[in-house]
Amino acid sequence: MLNSYLIQLIQKKGPLSQSQFMEIALQHPSYGYYQRQEAVGQDFTTSPEISQVFGELIGAWALDYFHQIKMPQSLTLVELGPGKGTLLADFLRTAKLEPSFYQALEIYLVETSPPLKNQQKTSIFFPFTWLKNFEELPKSQNPLIIIANEFFDALPTNLFKRKENVVFERCIACEDGKLVFQDIERRKEVGLDEIWEESPQTEALFHAICKRLQICGGIFLCIDYGYEGGSGDTLQALYKANPSLPLHQIGQSDLTCHVNFSKLKEIALSYNLGVLGPCSQGQFLKNLGIDLRIDFLKRKNPSQSAALNTALIRLTHPQQMGTLFKASAFFSPLTPHPSGFNLCF
Ligand code: SAH
Repeated sequence: MLNSYLIQLIQKKGPLSQSQFMEIALQHPSYGYYQRQEAVGQDFTTSPEISQVFGELIGAWALDYFHQIKMPQSLTLVELGPGKGTLLADFLRTAKLEPSFYQALEIYLVETSPPLKNQQKTSIFFPFTWLKNFEELPKSQNPLIIIANEFFDALPTNLFKRKENVVFERCIACEDGKLVFQDIERRKEVGLDEIWEESPQTEALFHAICKRLQICGGIFLCIDYGYEGGSGDTLQALYKANPSLPLHQIGQSDLTCHVNFSKLKEIALSYNLGVLGPCSQGQFLKNLGIDLRIDFLKRKNPSQSAALNTALIRLTHPQQMGTLFKASAFFSPLTPHPSGFNLCF
């Protein structure tokens, strides 16, 4: 369906940038991937789906931050792309342990996917408001805690290549009735041969987040797979949990690009925000006490020991999600010291 829609669009208007293509493939109102698929737990599994411990530890991390900012009476909690709502449900179980924290929370979820909204309705037992985008968040004086796990990797990203002092952009064109990648010359520019990505949507959203944090105070915890410094081509497609080609099964396969943590850091610093990380997910979770929590759960449920060990390994081992996934925190004012970022590498 989307294939013929894209072909017609390109025949009428010319080649699309990679980010225009991703936007349509993921978010087209009728046929976009996130409009139709439950995605999480089907095409890919995320950390909160692997173990309850993930959301619980983030709840404890947020509770600690709440204490550091002197326990405000109201606190806005925003989750970007909450998927099935599992992280938040586990987070809230921890939050409930301290009524002053639980009662201070005012929750907003940024979500566009109807099937996932249905899931969130049934998994989150706390009043919340959906937003289509972060910019819709009502103005208030409340400090914020913003959480995003595997959200930025779903945002559209462009790809550029500099070759012999000419910059090309990777576009999606149509040849013999088929969609193909095509490098289109954009400008002359002196520099080394290089491939790099830019995500205007990520940058615009991150500017909006930083502005809010600067005005109201608070913290943004971003966990995602990504890189620091490096460059390259990270576009990936997953179809029914298997790697596939980005121009195949459009609208039925998930498309992602890694997050450029250096770019986020550069933007945050321009707003005078504090920045910690990126820290490997494995180290971050160990700093938050994942080993102790898993041990406690094993003692309480001995029959679950093997499953808990497997979850621990999946979340923290360098060859699983431990290193590829990274956590970073962006915060204002600078005085609190968000936990979880000791011994970061
Ligand atoms: N955080 C969840 C889900 C990650 S999948 C977890 O860890 O399990 C990505 C999530 O972001 C989904 O909920 C998806 O619907 C949402 N999403 C993707 N692109 C979005 C966009 N442009 N605006 C709002 N939500 C989006």
